[in-house]
Amino acid sequence: MILTEFDYVRPVGLEEALTLLAGTPGARALAGGQSLLPDLRTGAARARLLVDVRHLEELRGVETAPDGTLRIGALTTLAELAAHPLVLERAPEIAAAARANGDPQVRNLGTTGGNLAATGRATDLPVAAIAAGAEAELAGRHGRSTVTAEELAASGVPAETVITALLVPPGGPAGAFEKSADRATRYPLCASAVRITTDGPRIAVTGATARALRLRGVEDRLGAGPYTTDNVLAAFRAEPRELFVPGRGTSAEYLGHLAGVLTARALARAQAHA
Ligand SMILES: Cc1cc2nc3c(=O)[nH]c(=O)nc-3n(C[C@H](O)[C@H](O)[C@H](O)COP(=O)(O)OP(=O)(O)OC[C@H]3O[C@@H](n4cnc5c(N)ncnc54)[C@H](O)[C@@H]3O)c2cc1C
Repeated sequence: MILTEFDYVRPVGLEEALTLLAGTPGARALAGGQSLLPDLRTGAARARLLVDVRHLEELRGVETAPDGTLRIGALTTLAELAAHPLVLERAPEIAAAARANGDPQVRNLGTTGGNLAATGRATDLPVAAIAAGAEAELAGRHGRSTVTAEELAASGVPAETVITALLVPPGGPAGAFEKSADRATRYPLCASAVRITTDGPRIAVTGATARALRLRGVEDRLGAGPYTTDNVLAAFRAEPRELFVPGRGTSAEYLGHLAGVLTARALARAQAHA
């Protein structure tokens, strides 16, 4: 399909980008373009102005803060995220979700902020960010703020706001991500991410559910373990059936079971690395 007409601007700094986003109806941030450009072609998204944020220094870099929080700049590409030593060491579920995303071309262009902000389909990074207990750092015309990955998945990026970074709390390497990919698109049919903490496991799924969701009921049922496949599947069977949304020729029962199987695998992998 042919792109509809829009204007394009490449701001030199974050403040200019925020002014453009706030001051132009129909303005959208453009990062790697791996979701936005296909969506503009199909008509799933509309834009009057694309504000290209790819050159903003404020959105770059991966570093550890003094309190141990891992700060991942929003422009970190999925390929960089998948291979970065700090991410592999401190947030293996995030690195694995980036590695499972699309193909090498998509991973070389697609960014952390873009995958967190993309809407309309189940995506890989939000579910891993929820399991990791991560927050998104936001910048808007009225200052800086943070939002949990869970809130971001529920409400989307606030209007006229840019994600500047993903903040992953310290919590060790006991995290893992498992995905069953749609064979045609590589998007997740279902994906599960887990992080085992001192308070028990944090578990999130996507694809099988209406959006990326933390499953507190499953977490409570599993408690301190053991996280055997039988226990995990039983914990998923006790979830309300309407939690799992049928789609693409798959039933809610199938997706609920698949979510349990992937979570059992992720917990086994996380325990092996703990
Ligand atoms: C062939 C193909 C296969 C794919 N497979 C997968 C897959 O398996 N799993 C998966 O999860 N995704 C998949 N995707 C989607 C893609 O990986 C991501 O959604 C993409 O990486 C988004 O990042 P981007 O930088 O390209 O964002 P863009 O496309 O530039 O933007 C996406 C959205 O995010 C907004 N945005 C971008 N950056 C910011 C920011 N810093 N702050 C606020 N808003 C922002 C844009 O305005 C837009 O609404 C696939 C895409 C393609 C083309």
